[in-house]
Amino acid sequence: MAIAGDEMTERDNTAYPERYGQWGGNPRGFAPNYERCCAEVTPNERGGGARRHQCNNKRGYGPGLAYCKTHNPDAVAAKRAERQAAYDAKWEARRYEWHGREFFNALDQIANGHNDARGLAQEIIAKFKEGER
Ligand SMILES: [Zn+2]
Repeated sequence: MAIAGDEMTERDNTAYPERYGQWGGNPRGFAPNYERCCAEVTPNERGGGARRHQCNNKRGYGPGLAYCKTHNPDAVAAKRAERQAAYDAKWEARRYEWHGREFFNALDQIANGHNDARGLAQEIIAKFKEGER
């Protein structure tokens, strides 16, 4: 077991499951190869008997140096954060489209002499901000 703080430099096998690729047709699965990344991956191809298996890449990154560059938990988290940020940006852009009619209607009311233009604008903006990410 690696000591905390040394986890980036010392090989440690605790992240490896006992077996890989276990399923009904192969209940025993496969023993881990400790020279390879510990991640269990799902092949992209659907069908054709493609099963979950141990990652084929060499280990050397992340806690216990048990991961490949791709499956290093830090890299996985960064990738996830990147995807989330892109999703949020898209969501924000969409919201302006969804609220476009509402914004126009408020502006129209103000242009036509709404007697509390500031109050109306604040109300519409507050409503819009409720759905912000
Ligand atoms: Zn990997």
